[in-house]
Amino acid sequence: MKPQILEALKKMEKFGYHTHVFPTAVEMRDFVMSSIPETASVGFGGSMTVTGDIRLYDLMKERGNTCFYHGRVEPEEAAATRKKAMLADYYLTSSNAVTYDGKLLNIDGVGNRVGALCCGPDIVYILVGVNKFAPDDEAAMKRCKEVACVKNGVRLDTGTPCAVTGKCADCNSPNRMCRAVLWLERVPREREFHICVADEALGY
Ligand code: SF4
Repeated sequence: MKPQILEALKKMEKFGYHTHVFPTAVEMRDFVMSSIPETASVGFGGSMTVTGDIRLYDLMKERGNTCFYHGRVEPEEAAATRKKAMLADYYLTSSNAVTYDGKLLNIDGVGNRVGALCCGPDIVYILVGVNKFAPDDEAAMKRCKEVACVKNGVRLDTGTPCAVTGKCADCNSPNRMCRAVLWLERVPREREFHICVADEALGY
């Protein structure tokens, strides 16, 4: 793992985060599974890392946790499920980018994930691969627009300029994904945040 990432995590410890480093995504997944009681309710933000690559939603649901993830319910239940996720005991998500000076950047279309990070479940686990780290704010925003949005746009067939050309046009599309932007500079007061980093590329 790059020394800049380890330095970023040291800074984040000073900012009030609990940080955890893992050689592999499987070890990170096992840590989260063992840290959350089977009786707890768990909300999920939209994240290819959490619900796709390491299948935490499936594994937690299988073992009996009450899970709220809008991506696995009927479309008419999605809005209510997003709100229930914000009131769960725990919240699991990734982040669009993490800067070397210890800031988290997230961009949302609906706002459920940034809302949950701001004032949602008391205990939050943010799971990232090393590909999510960026040297500075500008690079973090660039990765959001030119990597995360492009891939999400293609996956969700948004038809937004980023999905078609690979470049952001600061669009006004009805499918615009960039609607709520959150820079987290410190842990929000009265909350517990865990930053888990696996030494692999995960999600986008
Ligand atoms: S503003 Fe529009 S074009 Fe730019 S990244 Fe967001 S959705 Fe894509």
